[in-house]
Amino acid sequence: MSLTVVGSVAFDGVETPFGKRDKMLGGSATHFSISASFFDDVNIVGVVGGDFTRAEFDVFERHNIDTSDLEVVADGKTFFWRGRYDFDLNIAHTLETQLNVFADFQPKLSAASLKSRLVFLGNIQPDLQREVREQLKDAELVALDTMNMWIEQTRESLVETIKGVDIVIINDAEVRQLASEPNLIKAARKILSWGPSALVVKRGEYGAALFTDGTYFAIPAYPLESVFDPTGAGDTFAGGFMGYLASHDGINEAAMRRAMIFGSVMASFNVEEFGTERVQRLTHEEINERFRTFKKMTHFEEIPFQRAVTVGQ
Ligand code: AMP
Repeated sequence: MSLTVVGSVAFDGVETPFGKRDKMLGGSATHFSISASFFDDVNIVGVVGGDFTRAEFDVFERHNIDTSDLEVVADGKTFFWRGRYDFDLNIAHTLETQLNVFADFQPKLSAASLKSRLVFLGNIQPDLQREVREQLKDAELVALDTMNMWIEQTRESLVETIKGVDIVIINDAEVRQLASEPNLIKAARKILSWGPSALVVKRGEYGAALFTDGTYFAIPAYPLESVFDPTGAGDTFAGGFMGYLASHDGINEAAMRRAMIFGSVMASFNVEEFGTERVQRLTHEEINERFRTFKKMTHFEEIPFQRAVTVGQ
């Protein structure tokens, strides 16, 4: 097993200016795993209730996602999140959160998951993320996501958890909030000083940035004319990013830069339709085509001229 994700598996109710879904498959680990499955074998660790049907399991199965560590609490209900987006699709307004079986979630990693080369700790309570991290003795790379609620309520524990991971993948508002620093560059440097070797900043329609010790790399978002539902875009990005790295031998700066593009490509498909609908139908050809468009979009030549005469001579 080369890539494991721990996180929420949910039913989502979502309303955007373009439409509405009352109940669809969602959750951070769901979006992540479907996206990552286009690149490598994925193992999902989470919990669902008895209301999680064959149809939902089939989605994972169709993408070869190993659900052996997806615990089913037969007499409980699956985590439910309901949110609304207005015309600024960068801001999700949470209308309802029913934790249900997720309230007592204790991630249980099988021997196979514990041997994963790469692990993504999706957005869950930071103490739980740290407990999982401590069990991963041989992982080559562990990445983490979080959300504003944990930054506000459990900051100290979150900082402690961040000290033990290799990559932090969060959005720009979370970077500023976590570092208590309005300048993104300074905030990023502060987070890196706690221990991780890289910080990936997701910036919604403005793209994404990668900070490592002494280097900076940034890309725009894929220019889409119709964005339908941004739910899960961040996790889908992380899935493309980590999935590509899992499929690659040796993780270096060049691989991480390509992983940023694959992350953005996957997120760009995710937002075109509700929930996981578009990504579920994706083909490798579509992914590669958008990757190439990204390359063209961001390529530029070396300085084209040299002035023959120096001004003032
Ligand atoms: P994002 O990639 O940030 O848009 O994440 C969207 C997913 O996060 C949705 O599919 C929700 O089911 C899930 N989610 C929302 N609130 C929480 C929470 N408190 N803990 C874990 N997952 C959540």
